[in-house]
Parts: sequence; C-alpha cells; structure tokens
Amino acid sequence: MNRDQARKRIAYLRDEIRRHDRLYYVEAQPEITDYEYDQLFRELQELEAKFPDLVTPDSPTQRVGGAPVKEFPSVRHTVPMLSLEKTDTLEGLRKFDADVRKYLGTEPVAYVLEPKVDGVSIAVRYEKGQLVLGATRGDGTTGDDITANIKTIRAIPLALPRPLTIEIRGEAYMPLSAFEQFNEKLRQTGERPFPNPRNATAGTLKQLDPRIVAQRPLSAVFYAAIGGSFTSQAETLTGLKELGLPVPPWWLCRDIEEVLERYHRDIIAGGDETRDLRTQVPYELDGIVLKVNSFAQQQRIPAKARAPGHAIVFKPEHWIKPAETKIRDITVQVGRTGVLTPVAELEPVFVQGSTVSRATLHNEEEIKRKDIRIGDTVIVRKAGMVIPEVVEVVRSKRTGRERVFKMPTTCPACGGPVRRDPEFVAVRCENISCPAQLKRTIQHYGQRRAMDIEGLGEVLVNQLVDAGLVRDVADLYGLRVGQLAALERMGEKSAANIVRAISESRQRPLWRLLHGLGIQHVGEEAARKLASHFGSLDAIAQASVEELQQCEDVGPVMAASIHDFFRNPRNVAVIEKLRAAGVNMREEAIGSRAATGPFAGKTVVITGTLATMSRDEAQEKLRAAGANVTGSVSKKTDYLIVGTDAGSKLEKARALGVRTLSEQEFLEMLKK
Ligand code: AMP
Ligand code: ZN
Repeated sequence: MNRDQARKRIAYLRDEIRRHDRLYYVEAQPEITDYEYDQLFRELQELEAKFPDLVTPDSPTQRVGGAPVKEFPSVRHTVPMLSLEKTDTLEGLRKFDADVRKYLGTEPVAYVLEPKVDGVSIAVRYEKGQLVLGATRGDGTTGDDITANIKTIRAIPLALPRPLTIEIRGEAYMPLSAFEQFNEKLRQTGERPFPNPRNATAGTLKQLDPRIVAQRPLSAVFYAAIGGSFTSQAETLTGLKELGLPVPPWWLCRDIEEVLERYHRDIIAGGDETRDLRTQVPYELDGIVLKVNSFAQQQRIPAKARAPGHAIVFKPEHWIKPAETKIRDITVQVGRTGVLTPVAELEPVFVQGSTVSRATLHNEEEIKRKDIRIGDTVIVRKAGMVIPEVVEVVRSKRTGRERVFKMPTTCPACGGPVRRDPEFVAVRCENISCPAQLKRTIQHYGQRRAMDIEGLGEVLVNQLVDAGLVRDVADLYGLRVGQLAALERMGEKSAANIVRAISESRQRPLWRLLHGLGIQHVGEEAARKLASHFGSLDAIAQASVEELQQCEDVGPVMAASIHDFFRNPRNVAVIEKLRAAGVNMREEAIGSRAATGPFAGKTVVITGTLATMSRDEAQEKLRAAGANVTGSVSKKTDYLIVGTDAGSKLEKARALGVRTLSEQEFLEMLKK
C-alpha cells in the first residue's frame, strides 16, 4: 500500500469508527459487533504506525495519549457551573410555574423536561471543531483540566463535523451494566468495589493516568451549550445531537399542565416499573429537570443565589435512594395520645438532603416483622420526603452481637403503667397527666398545619410543661412575657414575639382549631370538611354520631371518636377555657354561605393561571364557600375554573360535559 492509498484508507477507517461511535453512543443503534469494531480500530492503528506523519490529533487512536500527570491544572469557567433548585412534590412544580409567571406574566411558557443524570458534571470545549479542553465543575467557578481523561471517553467526539467554537456541558457517567461488571472485576482482583456508579465515575476522572481512564467504561451525555447560536433548550438538544453529541431523552411541553401529564405518562409511566424512565436510560437519575424552553424568557427570570431561576429539579419520592447506617440504640417516645413509639437512634447519615440521626420504628409489631435489632446495619429513607424511616435490615452485615429490643412495661416519661391496645397494636400510657403526652398535645396545637403559632417549637414546649407553666393548651393564652423571658435561652424580644404569636392564633379559622385539638383520627382534611359542614365548634360538639357522619369523608370510627372527645369532661373544660380566652370557634361568618352558597357542596377543579389571585388563595376561598377542591377533572366535578393557559383539564372537562367558569364568573359567584 503506498502513501496515497494509506491516506485514503485511514480517512475511510476514521470516518467509519466515528460513524460507529455515533451509532453506538448517540443513536443507541449499533450496526456492528464489538469484534468488528476492534478490527477497524486495529487496522487504523497499524496503518498509522506505518505512516506516522498521517496521524492527526483527532484520530480515534489518539484518545489515549498523554503520560500521567502529577496534578491537574486549574481552569476558570467562562460561565459558572451552577447548582439547581429542587422540589419533591408536584405542588412544588406548580409553584415554580407560578414563580416563573411573576416575571413572564400570562404569556405562554413552554418547558423542556429532561432527566437529571446522576453523573459527574463536565465542560468540554471545541475550538474550530477540535476538542481542546475537558474540565470538571470543581467549585463551580474553577475546575480541573482533565482533557486527557475526557478524550478517552468514546461517547465524546474528538472533532465536530463543523469547525465550530463552542463549549458544551453535561455529565460523564458509568453505564449501570458496565458498573456492575467493573465492580465484579475489582472484587476478583481483591480491590474495593465502588459504592455506586457516580462514585466510580468521579474516582475514574480523578485518575492522573489517562491510560487507566481509557480502560474504564465511561460514557457521557450533554444538555447545554455556551457560544452556540441556539435560542432555546429544545434547539440546543436537537443541535447537539446533530453535532454527534449524545443527549438525554427530553420532552418539550407547551405548559405546566403538559409537564405534569408527561411526567405521569412517560416518566413514572403510571407506576409501570417496566416503562418508568429509570429503566429506559443507562444511567442513574437524580430527578427530572424542568427548564423554561426559550432562552429569551430564561433571561427575564433572575437567578437564585447559586442556581438559575429558570430551572428546577423534581425528584419523585419513590426514586429516592435509601442510605445505609447503624442503629446505636432503640429508645421509646411517648406521643400525644399516650402511645409509646420505639425510635431508632442512628449513626448520623446523610439522606435526601439532610443528616438523620433518629427514625421512627412505629411499633413493636413492625420491629418484629422487620426483625430490627440494636446494633443492626439498616437502610434508611424519608417517608413522604420528611419522616426518616427504617426500610430494612442489611442481614449480611449481622455480626451476632445485635440485641433484641423489648418494649418497656412502664411509661418512660412518667413511670406510670402501660396498657396494650389490642386493636391498634399500640402500647399506651394510661396516665392522663403524663407530661410527655401533654408536651406532644401542645406541640400539635401550635404546629404550622394547626394553629400555626410561630416559635412554639419542641424545646419551648418542653420547657413550658416542665416549668409547670402550661397544663393544657388553653394555658398558652395566659402566658406573660415575663414568665417566658425567665426561661433558659429566651430573651425579652423572643418572649414578646411568642406571646404575640399565641395571641394572634385566636383569630385562626375553625378548621385549624379543630385540627389543633388533636381528636383521634381527625386530620387536617377532615377538620376542613367538618368546619365547613357544621360552621361552628359547638355544632360539631353537639352533633350525634349519625349527624357527624353526614359530613363528607367522616366514617363511623371518626364520628365515634369526635363524639367521645366532646363528651370527655376534661376536654369540655379545656374548650370552655379556650372560649373564655377569646379563641375563634366559628367558621368566620361564612358558615351560612358555606351551607347555601353556589359553591356549597360542589366539587371544583382549577386549571391555568388566575389573574387576580394565586391558586392557593382561590382554593382557600372555594373551601370557605363550601366547595370541595380537587386536583383532577372527573365525572364528579361540578365546575372547572379556567385561568389563562389552561391545560388538558379543559379538554377533559369539555369531553365530560363539566361546566366551566371563567375567572370573572368565579368571582361573581363567590359574592353570591
Ligand atoms: P446540584 O449540584 O444537585 O444542585 O445539581 C446541579 C447539577 O446537576 C449540574 O451542575 C449538572 O451537573 C447536573 N445535571 C444533571 N443533569 C442535568 C440536566 N439535564 N440539566 C442541568 N443540569 C444537570
Ligand atoms: Zn406516661
């Protein structure tokens, strides 16, 4: 083969290799086997060895270049690599949309949904189409120059098809299946396996010898560009793919309603595990990113401290990866109703964004069922994103020194006898003046979802009860600034604030009081329904069990519990004290309207953005008018209130013949 023929063959082989890289990494549609690929590669290597002057830096053979370095040089990022805001509820996504609209008003806002890839952030710069720099995020402002390592990643082209100067950003990751194999290999050679793919990726990119990196199965995806001529996120993703760069799957949605629909249909796939997005991609997901599509619109939204204002990450609760830790001890807490709850005292561990050191074990049955012992290594997660919970024991880590837990036979708070409640697998302290119960009762009364008394936290409540200043919730209203200020760690000013907060709670709507009283089985929702159905605390107190059940969602168990509560003389005494203290006990003058107005007893759904009030306010008003506000349209819906940019709910309402109301009509009806 002469030089000229070699030149042609080399060009052909490079193109073929690049084409197959692209088919494999970008299109995920390989046409040849690994063996055939290796043949092409070997032939190219041999030819280049014969004709060294034909080697160019963007040849696929040049991925593994350079010798090991002592340390990575630093690079300053042209544009900082930021963090992202996060939410864990769909409500949070709606709130994000509402926040965006503070800047964009009622104009249409399209969003792009894409996975948040749980890899290692990288920035890659091309100059005139050639890869010249690969960098880590570092502290966001300055990162490490890891160009030699980045070049070994076959998913990242060494040259673009056009001589562009552009910086792209994305994630390097180790595909899940490759990770398993890689760990297996480490185990076989007696090395320590990596705890997860992200760790393996980070550990690999930190290698100072690119030849080691080349042997490890890293890949990458990209979702942002700096210096391209793109005008939207959707254009960016399409454009990057055209340039031969791998991108994640993504969805362009015309509004927030479509985002939520997509989310249900394509991301959690209606709970169908086999179609869940997590099973469709080769990397781990750290959530779903929602970005305002138009760059012009993005620019009108101010950034947060360390994150852009135009994007948010949503992490569905069941996607959260649990953490592993050890149970140091199991202690017992006494709750508001006297129930003894075993609590795992954990070695502090980072779970879903915060450090956790205690987790409820619910009851003795649960401990037995999960066979949880003191000293066990366990998996912990947060139920509902908030309450730390022990999911299971890691049995393989048992040493034999673990101890079985026994429920105490006396109350750990008051020393009184405990009784087993056969119906609820609960163990209960029977002492009505048990201080632990009183503390929990008062805390519950003041909590945000009940009487909302700011500053009345656990520590203060414990102090108040221990000092004998509060014997029931009504005593709160008699507290004076001087008494509070005398408590440890309490200044005059905070004492005054708390007294004011307590005083303000007198005006709270009835449902808050009802919830705050802590009647067994009566939660926030039920309290709202009872308040609007009966209109006053006295009406509820006087209602018979049958009458109580006429209120929506009140079943026989709840009705009996409410009925009993108001016939307990101690409770009656507390309620009279509250009345004397001036606490509101009526559904503020809306009682009658809630019973007879146009929204009384109606099921109402809201869609789109309202011009005169937030969705929360609208819901509050509707509830006050006796409506039942729900999230989705069904045959049972009486009215759909339609704001601007109404989504699929409107179509559904039309299909079902549900009556729709404009914002104006809604406001008119509220007045009636
Ligand atoms: P965090 O550091 O958890 O606040 O998240 C921000 C990081 O998420 C960014 O620096 C990116 O590295 C990463 N990330 C992963 N997937 C995406 C995506 N689709 N869009 C934006 N950032 C992403
Ligand atoms: Zn007790």
